[in-house]
Amino acid sequence: MAFSNWCDTPVKERATYLLKLADKLEENLPELVALCHREAGKTVMDSIDEVREAVDFLRYYPTQAELAFTDPIEQAHFNGGMQQTQYEGVGVFVCISPWNFPLAIFIGQVSAALVAGNTVVAKPAEQTSLIAHRCIELLLETGLPNNVVQLLIGSGAQLGSTLTSDPRVAGVVFTGSTPTAQTINRQLAKRHTLPVPFIAETGGQNAMIVDSTALPEQVVRDVLRSAFASAGQRCSALRVLYVQQDIAARIIELIQGAMAQMQVGNPEYLSTDVGPVIDEKAQNRLLDHIQWLDQKAKFLARVSLPKSQKNSTFVAPCAYEIQSIEQLTEEHFGPILHVIQYKARDLDDVIKQINDSGFGLTLGVHSRNERTYRHIEAHAQVGNCYINRDQVGAVVGVQPFGGQGLSGTGPKAGGPHYLYRFAKACVSVNKDKEATS
Ligand code: NAP
Repeated sequence: MAFSNWCDTPVKERATYLLKLADKLEENLPELVALCHREAGKTVMDSIDEVREAVDFLRYYPTQAELAFTDPIEQAHFNGGMQQTQYEGVGVFVCISPWNFPLAIFIGQVSAALVAGNTVVAKPAEQTSLIAHRCIELLLETGLPNNVVQLLIGSGAQLGSTLTSDPRVAGVVFTGSTPTAQTINRQLAKRHTLPVPFIAETGGQNAMIVDSTALPEQVVRDVLRSAFASAGQRCSALRVLYVQQDIAARIIELIQGAMAQMQVGNPEYLSTDVGPVIDEKAQNRLLDHIQWLDQKAKFLARVSLPKSQKNSTFVAPCAYEIQSIEQLTEEHFGPILHVIQYKARDLDDVIKQINDSGFGLTLGVHSRNERTYRHIEAHAQVGNCYINRDQVGAVVGVQPFGGQGLSGTGPKAGGPHYLYRFAKACVSVNKDKEATS
């Protein structure tokens, strides 16, 4: 009943609730920033960016829905100009989100599913339940019928299989790690129902390639932001920096100097560059990897930790030189930079090694040689390739974001193809047939 009523609600009206929520998030910015500090350990700038991105999703998807679902010219663009199609929601959509973008990804998924005409069960990461709860409270204050969205708080390990094995689930959108996506995929496949849409946005083993024509100061600024912003807890974050041997010594020296200036500490202070990692479990996993690096790799740099660390989950941002990306068998989701030197003549082999990792999320390139960066861009199998800039912080509607291979199924979030995956085409009018009959 809730689904059929909501599905029959005009797109324009569905959109109104989300646009109102965007305004409410802006009005409640200080509270949401405080929640991001307290629950997710985000710095001031990261928290403001988090709310900004959530607002962007809440304005982009409703606008896009009106175009995608009602505008014949936009539809013709996507179906080859042949048909005018009516779209409607598919049913109950399960939205499962991670803690690292507790507001933006959480509400991004929910808003896309809702505006496309689905009812929603929203399962945020357990670590960031308060932020999700406050967001849904504000959503209900907009007047959204309260049987259209259900927040489900709890741990994924406990709720996950019950949720994704339920035959009433008509679609799942998931953002999180690749192994969890694979578990959900298996769970969905076991159901004795028709296959349903499964949109998964997952992890990466993101690299940056820096050749000898790059501007060193710009490289270092972008490496530090890409590797250490948000304590390296961004899916797009830089994990493996490939530097052409000829300039490696200079780049490494500059990275060491810049890291000596970084401040790790309480994320509520403006002076803090890097806050804690999400919890003790994540901290221990990262410290284990650093221990492994201490034995197997060449130490390059480490940022000092604050003196008082009682009950804290800081991980000091660090950099190590390794021999090959193959030494990294999984994504290390924290402030750890791996550096590899390469010879100019081996550039194609570098691209192949990156592609062979199986992940394909982001790639950074620093080069002032247009032929080189166009060559890399053409051959790298990644969702988002950034040239002569950092590789984090994709902007909704401007830089649609998503990976390929082990990094995601697509379509990209914040892009024009996304909403179609949440809806089904139900009535088509073939214009050519009409014209000739
Ligand atoms: P995660 O452990 O895979 O968890 C993601 C979500 O899945 C959480 O809500 C989690 O709940 C839930 N979950 C866990 N097991 C489940 C199961 N069996 N069935 C259903 N749901 C289950 O990932 P995370 O540690 O929160 O987030 C970090 C990961 O997300 C990284 O790998 C990062 O690269 C990736 N990420 C990707 C993107 C992208 O756009 N590609 C964006 C952001 C993050 P609980 O937390 O309550 O267990």
